[in-house]
Amino acid sequence: MTTELQRDLDDIVRVSRALGGDPSLVLHGGGNTSIKTTGIDVTGAPVDLVLVKGSGWDLGTIEAPGFAPLRLDRLAELLSLAELDDVTMVNELRQASLDAAAPTASIEALLHAYLPGKAVLHSHANAIVALTNSGLSDAEIVAVLGERVLVLPYVMPGFPLARLIADSDVSGVDAVVLRNHGLFTFADAADTALSRHRELVALADTHLGVSTWGNPGGTAPASGTVTELATLRRDVSRAAGTPMLVRQTGSARGAEFAARPGVAELTRRGTATPEHVIHTKRTPMIGRDVEAYAAEYRAYFERHAARANPAVSPLHPAPRVVLDPGLGLLVTGATTKELKIAGDIALHTLDVIDAADAIGTYGSLSEADSFDIEYWTLEQLKLAGKQAKPLGGEVAVVTGAASGIGRAIAELLLAQGAAVVGIDLNAAVTTLSDSDSWRGVTGDVSAPETIEAAVETAVREFGGVDMVVVAAGIFPPSQALAELDDEVWDRAFRVNVTAVARLFRAVHPVLALAPNGGRVVLVSTKNVAAPGPGVAAYSASKTAAAQLARVAALEWAADGIRVNQVEPDAVFDTAIWTPELLAARAANYGLSVEEYRTRNLLRTEVRSRTVAEAVVAFCERFPATTGAHLSVDGGNDRVI
Ligand SMILES: [Zn+2]
Repeated sequence: MTTELQRDLDDIVRVSRALGGDPSLVLHGGGNTSIKTTGIDVTGAPVDLVLVKGSGWDLGTIEAPGFAPLRLDRLAELLSLAELDDVTMVNELRQASLDAAAPTASIEALLHAYLPGKAVLHSHANAIVALTNSGLSDAEIVAVLGERVLVLPYVMPGFPLARLIADSDVSGVDAVVLRNHGLFTFADAADTALSRHRELVALADTHLGVSTWGNPGGTAPASGTVTELATLRRDVSRAAGTPMLVRQTGSARGAEFAARPGVAELTRRGTATPEHVIHTKRTPMIGRDVEAYAAEYRAYFERHAARANPAVSPLHPAPRVVLDPGLGLLVTGATTKELKIAGDIALHTLDVIDAADAIGTYGSLSEADSFDIEYWTLEQLKLAGKQAKPLGGEVAVVTGAASGIGRAIAELLLAQGAAVVGIDLNAAVTTLSDSDSWRGVTGDVSAPETIEAAVETAVREFGGVDMVVVAAGIFPPSQALAELDDEVWDRAFRVNVTAVARLFRAVHPVLALAPNGGRVVLVSTKNVAAPGPGVAAYSASKTAAAQLARVAALEWAADGIRVNQVEPDAVFDTAIWTPELLAARAANYGLSVEEYRTRNLLRTEVRSRTVAEAVVAFCERFPATTGAHLSVDGGNDRVI
């Protein structure tokens, strides 16, 4: 790599991150950047290049490998064409790369190649789209932003937009405003292009009288019952044909907007910038009538289907953003990442709408133009590339999640795509994972307020509860019946049985609304079938819990809820089993620690992970099984 190329690459990475790090300019993968430079090809000959942001990279976190080095002369040849379809263009962009392993360049690569400055920056800055979406004329926009700005009408991104700019006179300007889309700035240095970008956005901010964008405006009081929210999620999931997460954002700003009398008219006018349609659909759902929203979406698809590639099938008709006067701003998604993206875009869009309406009348792309983006072959290909996880869109509550078997279960559920709420007495449960799909609730599992907090968290953060795993339990010290301590007995029953009954009672109304049917798994024990001397409180309480689960299987089958049990034995990779305790117990039986660990028919060690796999299997599979017991004990002749 030449030193010039290295320096230019460093510059564009740094400036791209600065641009992408400001959410009022760039949100979730929006925007793109480039820098023109010189490289050396394999023959040693110098070659003029444009390093263009690769598709799939986020500007805020982009690194050097995120840029594709494209041959400028080849891109200039492509721009001599009058037309070029998307698939052919992408093929040509890949062939124009000096590095076959580089990412596919942004679909705006031809535009970056054409614009005169060394560095080119593109964003969908809120202030700029608010200005163009307010109905101001081109001349009025120039009056706000200055003479060195060219304003162009909306055309489809990709080749048509590159063609339009190549046919326009960009001499004497260093910025292009694309109506209903965004801003390009270009200069001989990346930093100059960035400061020009910020300067224009600041001028627009001042004209609009806006200083911050996308602010959630504090927290609105929790509204609606958990049953109302879980019902909404069930309806959204039914319309989508797959389980979906729903999050009540709790944004005071969202709640205020949702409660406005004319909210339907305000939001019917479309997205702030074309790309947002992929994440939020063209309009939010107002209220909770998912079937009506879905019917409207299907009609919209039918109205425009002739414009789409015939191979394209309709996307699911469920809303991604919901504005309800009672529930505030809610978002839906197959993953928590989708929730985050939809939520951020929704809050920014509300501000763009208000800012544009304050100086004129908000307007966006026509329905047809918006459809063209939503069903654009290139966007559809991106969506098709996403692989759904087995428990994606589903929500689990796990008790005893901070350590041992409960923790192994929680981690495996997360890995399989579920959103998980963990309950534990140990506050470490709140930091078990930094994923947005994880929430921890600290408290005694037998306390009704702990259970209520967990259900509230699951429903308000993720939309409902699909799976409940009871892994919390206590193993009291061994006591002969003759010496049985009342307190030990009571505590074993409180944690091992009463807590489970309370959890079942509290979660049932929500579990019955699980779109794919609720699943409950009780982590039971070998002791139910094969009790041992000295563990009366443990064996009796766990047997009562097992009976409780059997009753739940009988009562809840009508609601489509399956209740099954996993019966582990001698799981030693948990916090309770310190090396000292293991050694002491092994010595007690005259065995080595190794022999003690594998004291079962298969001579295998039973690990937390193995138990977790059995629990998750009951959650993912066996749709025709309820009331079943599965031993995970290495084989025990007293059970067999
Ligand atoms: Zn764009």
